[in-house]
Amino acid sequence: MEKSVVCILCPKGCAIKVDMVKDTVKEVCGYGCIRGKEYAVSECTHPIRSVTGLVRVSNREYVMLSVKTDKAVPKEKIFDVIEKLNAICVDAPVYIGDIIQRDICGADIVATKTVL
Ligand code: SF4
Repeated sequence: MEKSVVCILCPKGCAIKVDMVKDTVKEVCGYGCIRGKEYAVSECTHPIRSVTGLVRVSNREYVMLSVKTDKAVPKEKIFDVIEKLNAICVDAPVYIGDIIQRDICGADIVATKTVL
């Protein structure tokens, strides 16, 4: 089975074809560099994504803290991460770059803004 992947690693946007037999990659073509080849293989075998979201701030009214995972997590874990983000409540002040929760599906949750 042939899968098509548009590489998003640079503006060139190469259209990459990945020929798969069951879960094994047989051939990859259409990539412009080795990073794109690795990206396409990863997309077809074990896709990963960074997750962004909002968490509540207990001592600030109408304020949410924007956060993200410090690394990409397996795509099938995205909703687990979001569910756990919904349960988090932090106390201000929080500074951009602070780790607000460790090891959610293998990633730490990092603040992407400052709330004083
Ligand atoms: S394969 Fe390489 S050249 Fe092509 S879009 Fe991806 S990063 Fe850019």
